Amino acid sequence: MRRLWVLLGLLAVGPAWALQVVATTASMGMLARTVGGPQVQVSELAPPDRDAHMLQARPSMLRALRDAQLVVAVGAELEIGWLPAAISGAANGAIAPGRPGYFEAAAQVPLLDAGLAADRAQGDVHPGGNPHVNLDPLRMAAISKALAERLAQLDPANAAGYRERAQGFAAAVDARVPTWKRKAAGSAGVVSFHKDVVYLTGFLGVPFLGTLEPVPGVAPTASHLQTLAARLAGKKGVIVHTPYQPAAGAEKLATLTGWPVVVLPIEPPAGSEAQGYFELIDRWVDVLARAR
Ligand SMILES: [Zn+2]
Repeated sequence: MRRLWVLLGLLAVGPAWALQVVATTASMGMLARTVGGPQVQVSELAPPDRDAHMLQARPSMLRALRDAQLVVAVGAELEIGWLPAAISGAANGAIAPGRPGYFEAAAQVPLLDAGLAADRAQGDVHPGGNPHVNLDPLRMAAISKALAERLAQLDPANAAGYRERAQGFAAAVDARVPTWKRKAAGSAGVVSFHKDVVYLTGFLGVPFLGTLEPVPGVAPTASHLQTLAARLAGKKGVIVHTPYQPAAGAEKLATLTGWPVVVLPIEPPAGSEAQGYFELIDRWVDVLARAR
């Protein structure tokens, strides 16, 4: 009897979840939460209002990574400036790159801009391909299924639930695709600050008209904006930048073209579930749909 009480006591204090997952961004946190369900506890390293290219490894990241069984990263070198340092600082071999506890979303899907010159003179070119897959709902659905398989590998007892929730997410995406595409059809197109919306425009069939950055990672210059404005003369479109990207380049191009400027995040709110992600895509579709 005493042994039974000890056993019950252990059960009562043990964690309710099977896995601790650390996601690098809010989009990756959303996927981990959506696919992991009640079996996972998810924390996020990059706040959605910060530029995930530009973070630095912090003690709070190391603490989160120390106890994790799985890291869900965007990959394709998006987090190269801080995640490798944070992982090695956490001294947790289970989440080292190459181990089952390290998952990269970008490695699960075909990437745009792969194989461009890996020359830093070309700016921060993401030589492994463009990592900004999170705004493409179809790629995110494919990534959710790959993530379910990884969770199943780490926690076989709950494999069926992981696969079921990934299928549910993919089905929810599929159900929304016709409305998103119908609304966006006929959009004149978009200029973004960084090349972080091309997966979305490709998915929707909306013209991607250029970036305020002359090359990725380099701030807008007057000569680049003038060249861009000359190329866009007589056309319509919308200029979009995120809250953390400086507004000056967008305002300058707006003056030159007469186009509206819209400030829109590329990440859902911190702690989002699938609904928060779908609302983000809804907002983008509405902005693109008005550009005509
Ligand atoms: Zn980038």
